[in-house]
Amino acid sequence: MFCNLIDGQWRGSGHAIVNRNPSDLHDVVGEFATASAGDMRDAVAAARAALPGWRATTVQQRADILDAAGSEILARKQELGTLLAREEGKTLAEAVGEVARAGQIFKFFAGEALRGHGEWLDSVRPGVEVAISREPVGVVGLITPWNFPIAIPAWKAAPALAFGNTVVLKPAELVPASSWALADILQRAGLPDGVFNLVLGSGRVLGPAMLEAGIDALSFTGSQATGQALAADCAARGIKLQLEMGGKNPLLVADDARLEQAVECAINGAFYSTGQRCTASSRLIVCAGIYDAFVARLAERTAALRVGHALAPDTQIGPVASEVQLAANLRYVAQGQAEGASLLCGGDALQLATPGYYQQPALFAGCTAQMAISREEIFGPVAAVLRADGYEHALALANDTPYGLAAGICTQSLALATHFRRHAEAGMVMVNLPTAGVDYHVPFGGRKGSSLGPREQGRHAVEFYTTVKTAYLGL
Ligand code: ADP
Repeated sequence: MFCNLIDGQWRGSGHAIVNRNPSDLHDVVGEFATASAGDMRDAVAAARAALPGWRATTVQQRADILDAAGSEILARKQELGTLLAREEGKTLAEAVGEVARAGQIFKFFAGEALRGHGEWLDSVRPGVEVAISREPVGVVGLITPWNFPIAIPAWKAAPALAFGNTVVLKPAELVPASSWALADILQRAGLPDGVFNLVLGSGRVLGPAMLEAGIDALSFTGSQATGQALAADCAARGIKLQLEMGGKNPLLVADDARLEQAVECAINGAFYSTGQRCTASSRLIVCAGIYDAFVARLAERTAALRVGHALAPDTQIGPVASEVQLAANLRYVAQGQAEGASLLCGGDALQLATPGYYQQPALFAGCTAQMAISREEIFGPVAAVLRADGYEHALALANDTPYGLAAGICTQSLALATHFRRHAEAGMVMVNLPTAGVDYHVPFGGRKGSSLGPREQGRHAVEFYTTVKTAYLGL
């Protein structure tokens, strides 16, 4: 049984999460101890007790530990990628790439610990100077989803630790193994007891317990419903908050797009990682002049995608992560048909050699902006193509969404690309690239219903994981 990490001790429990491989339900990845609300209280208390010691460490000590963790993650990327692919279902290549990214994130934030983040100014008053410094926020709670089992815990934990905070991580129930591996690596890299705590189990039980136990800040990535509920609770308790809650990201294909490039962007953005990325392009908004050619070529490419076991070398699309998610995807496929969209290919659940949650990617054309498949985040391999009269209409459709995470355009026109970059209501804009697939050293986040609070990743992470102090110094 893999245990919770509380105050430097591996703590078991009488209850376990049985972690099964969605590519092969006979394959048990491991049994993981579920924590109680009391365990969560202990974890937050341990993080509170460890805070004075950790924030007093030198930036060199923190950088060394993060760097060591990053090196171990990178050195073990094949093994950890295999584990991740087994528990989440993304292909081995995608999983190894995600692990490598987690390693790079720790390396980046090892450097961030050393870089200066303060400012020193003259006062407007004579004989006075002003020093603006950044201090840790305190005990930071991290609640993470299942679609990036190691990268998201890494991109929250690394800046939290770099800037002197202590951490309680509650990962998604579906993917405890990657977080357990991360906790083990961090502990062996030399973190003092209580600085990083891992609490496994139900969000409905452990989320409220975490907030009640008295954290100072919460970084959450997950569904909009959970995020909004947490936002209300954090506001009432005065807890600093950062939310990432998904998207319904448009890829706009202009009349002058290069056909093969646009189709490649759509295939990658809509279907890779089985469509289970919050930056997935689930709305393909195509201008009338290129519509027929684009849809025909995209349908051909979609139908040819190879769905299979995540560890099989020729698999392009792994299984859906869970039975619940597969059932939701199938409901959306039925709803799209009932609402009058044309299902050009895919959509069905597949029976393959091993029992798993396989689904053939579904491509709908002739969609209207009002249909559920055009409006709601599905989080699966289901894409909706909408026809636009021209660029202005396409832009209006692209922005006609409660979300605002990523938005992409395929065009050869600098003028259109520039106009779109300036007018897309999204936190991230991609030109001639898939909407999904982002760098680890630059800010990540959205606007409207997608995100709340400061950005994640890159130099901007300092905004969330520190609090500013302004000191006036008389001479
Ligand atoms: P998804 O539908 O993708 O699983 P959720 O928002 O339910 O999205 O889950 C994201 C994370 O939030 C998971 O770690 C989950 O355990 C956690 N979670 C679920 N419900 C709550 C809650 N009420 N409070 C805090 N965290 C929660």
